[in-house]
Amino acid sequence: MSVLKVVEWPAKVLETKSEEVKEFDEDLKKFVADMHETMDEAGGIGLAANQVNVAKRILTICIPWTENKYAEQEEKKEHWHDKRWTFVNPVITKKKGKFRWQEGCLSFPEVFEFVDRAEEIWVTAQDENGETFEVHANGLFAVCLQHEIDHIDGIVFINRMSRLKSTMVRKKVLKRQRLMNTEVEE
Ligand SMILES: [Zn+2]
Repeated sequence: MSVLKVVEWPAKVLETKSEEVKEFDEDLKKFVADMHETMDEAGGIGLAANQVNVAKRILTICIPWTENKYAEQEEKKEHWHDKRWTFVNPVITKKKGKFRWQEGCLSFPEVFEFVDRAEEIWVTAQDENGETFEVHANGLFAVCLQHEIDHIDGIVFINRMSRLKSTMVRKKVLKRQRLMNTEVEE
């Protein structure tokens, strides 16, 4: 396995709609394993393939429960906690309710903003072997899935914020990148 490079916005691949996976071969399994390793290494709870520069409809999720560091209030352990999830060609079949969470993104370092999402979703997808499965997601799992499915549709979370918020974040990110580039040159 190997750790892949996570691309940061404004990389074009992040705003590109990803293609469906048709071949479930050894290359796919290796890529999925690399995605999980990359996500762990970066300290993320979710990763979409286009965040590692591959425009395919694949995402990985793993939300730790024991550390409980993402909870704003006490939460109970759900079926999806501490589990390694791989979604290939995921489709949201049903949505319910409204939910707001302060989201972060590996492609937007140091940005954490509230985004409106559905509270519960139902998703049909395939695993890395091509087996179809269905899952009901709530809480942070639902937020994370919606965030990652947006990624493979070429939608980054600033597109889900108000125009004002989105403009502020864009400026902040571009300024940070300018500063980092200057540091490198020195
Ligand atoms: Zn993201």
